[in-house]
Amino acid sequence: MEEQTRSIVQQSLNALLGNESFLPELQGDMRKTAFTSLNAILSTPNQIHKSFLRVALEGGEVVRIPSYRVHHNDALGPYKGGIRFHETVNEEDVVNLAFLMTLKNALHNVPFGGSKGGISINPKEFSEKELQLICVNYVRYFNNVLGPDKDIPAPDVGSGEREMDWMMAEYKKINPGSQYLGSFTGKSIVNGGSLGRREATGKGVYFSFRYLLHDYVIANEKALATSTNPFAKTALDFMNRPLTVAVQGFGNVGAVTALEASQCKYIHNKVVAVSDRNVTLFNADGLDIPALIDFIANNQGDLPTSVEQLTEISVRAEIQSREDILTMNVDVLFLAALENQLHDQNKTEVKARIIVEGANAPTTQEADDYLSNKGVIIIPDILANAGGVIVSYLEWLQGRETQFYTEEQVHNQLFEKMKHTLDGILPQYFGDPFPLRQNCYIHSVTRLSTVLYKQGQLY
Ligand code: GLU
Repeated sequence: MEEQTRSIVQQSLNALLGNESFLPELQGDMRKTAFTSLNAILSTPNQIHKSFLRVALEGGEVVRIPSYRVHHNDALGPYKGGIRFHETVNEEDVVNLAFLMTLKNALHNVPFGGSKGGISINPKEFSEKELQLICVNYVRYFNNVLGPDKDIPAPDVGSGEREMDWMMAEYKKINPGSQYLGSFTGKSIVNGGSLGRREATGKGVYFSFRYLLHDYVIANEKALATSTNPFAKTALDFMNRPLTVAVQGFGNVGAVTALEASQCKYIHNKVVAVSDRNVTLFNADGLDIPALIDFIANNQGDLPTSVEQLTEISVRAEIQSREDILTMNVDVLFLAALENQLHDQNKTEVKARIIVEGANAPTTQEADDYLSNKGVIIIPDILANAGGVIVSYLEWLQGRETQFYTEEQVHNQLFEKMKHTLDGILPQYFGDPFPLRQNCYIHSVTRLSTVLYKQGQLY
């Protein structure tokens, strides 16, 4: 993953080379030096905090759990990023994910820096009491580097409101008199969370797709028709026609994305496949998404894996293996599971011509280059899945003001912010032959470099 971080930095910087918006006030050697400083700042996180959390399990056994909090960059504001609970969590991945948070916040002009946390466990293997202990110990250990003006964690893969509630309670206990409501986001609503936060990432993922493929393309149809850009051609090919959709991942992001797609008033989508860590479910006539959402709510978050379970909830679907979803013959593929799903080995098998990244880093660079060269539109993670952190920002604000918004106000602000970002990027995307990811990186790194320069950091 170190490798991947470096290549993301390189890609962003290469994109900046020769770009007039990169510190236009600097000339010659000064510009070169600033460039080298920027490279150094982006390719290494500010701090890496790690610990082996000691937890006594209910059976009496004591385990040591590798845990991390990485502060990547805070030029734009306090560090911000989720805490991942997953058995594959390791330092390099957390560093890379923290970097993506820096870029994501910069892209959408959210006044936060980038950080990420990780706890290397499979949460399904621990009792509720043990998980609470793990959360409490995490806060005790990392307390010094957390706080509403320092670093504000949120949920990520494997964590949610319950974990944030436990963590905030511990933070409040250790730091009496603090602005504790702003110390964690993604909390439950009764505990100071924001209406609409739970659905925010999935709604934002779907919005980015709908805005690009529908609102923007329709409003700019004439200009796109004269463009020689392969992405403009793909967008026009898909305009105003029914689309088949597959959604990889049926957690908090994938399930909401699938529901939004199946209920969209603007685009006639047929969600023909969804998947999770066990299976892919397929029905060429479209799946009953609400029934599947009801099912996972009562089955530890897992989709049905047998014909009996499907019959019980009257859902008609074929059961296939979980990887099948990636190479299905569909128009649109939403990736809402984990990283590195489309890679060198399966890239030639991918048939979707529009890919939307609900997860962080689900497409490797090789797969991205290959698919982009074929004119596949890839809406990248930092653009598509920012709904979570955008509404986290609104939650943080509401906590500070102790004034709370309605769900409608939250979602309207979310869509407005995403629309603003998309409007700032799409004209260039459909004009230059660069993939959307590259355009997003240029945008983020330009903003970061301007701020870093003004703060006297680029010398
Ligand atoms: N974990 C989410 C992400 O990767 C949300 C982060 C946040 O709300 O701080 O964007």
